[in-house]
Amino acid sequence: MSLSEIKDRIAKAEAAAGRTPGSVQLIAVSKVQPDDRVRAVLDQGHRLFGENRVQEAAGKWPSFREQYPDVQVHLIGPLQTNKTRQAFGLFEAIHSVDRPKLAKTIARIAQEEGRCPDLFIQVNTGEEPQKAGILPAEADAFIADCNAMDLRLEGLMCIPPVEEEPSLHFALLAKIAERNGLSGLSMGMSSDFERAIALGATHVRVGSAIFGERVSSGG
Ligand SMILES: *Cc1c(COP(=O)(O)O)cnc(C)c1O
Repeated sequence: MSLSEIKDRIAKAEAAAGRTPGSVQLIAVSKVQPDDRVRAVLDQGHRLFGENRVQEAAGKWPSFREQYPDVQVHLIGPLQTNKTRQAFGLFEAIHSVDRPKLAKTIARIAQEEGRCPDLFIQVNTGEEPQKAGILPAEADAFIADCNAMDLRLEGLMCIPPVEEEPSLHFALLAKIAERNGLSGLSMGMSSDFERAIALGATHVRVGSAIFGERVSSGG
């Protein structure tokens, strides 16, 4: 599928849900994709990308940024606290704020640097033991803690369990965001972004549907 087809489908889903045209941002997830595929998407004018590994983004995006200065890259995968400062230099947003220690580290570095990427809290809506994220029952308290640390939150993010109907998870995430006054919802991937848009997604993270299957596993 091409970038323009995905954009078409997003526009149709926005219209079907009565959403404002252009209210959903498309994050093109470029992890593990060869540079020529990424460049092809850049050359079609797309500027918002997602990566799930700090090291991979560090190897790939500084040189693309020289050629495409208005590019934005969002971190959508796990962040080790000792890579937080590096992440500040690489990403316009972090979608994976998933534990108190990381929130504290981000708050400290934001104070030191006088700036901070946009932040999304990752919620483990499926309560899967192997998956990162704040449990739904703990989300309100964690959001309050982040607010108390002066972290400006953009919204929430989730990755539904593969075997389950994602809409239930999208609806749960939307509900937690709403009762906490958060407007951003990072949800929906190649297989389910239209359902996520119907339930209020503001950021969809689409990889393989744009770039083709990943050559090796991207985690
Ligand atoms: C890889 C990845 C995506 C994109 O997945 P596709 O199924 O290729 O669209 C979205 N979100 C996260 C967190 C990812 O790691």
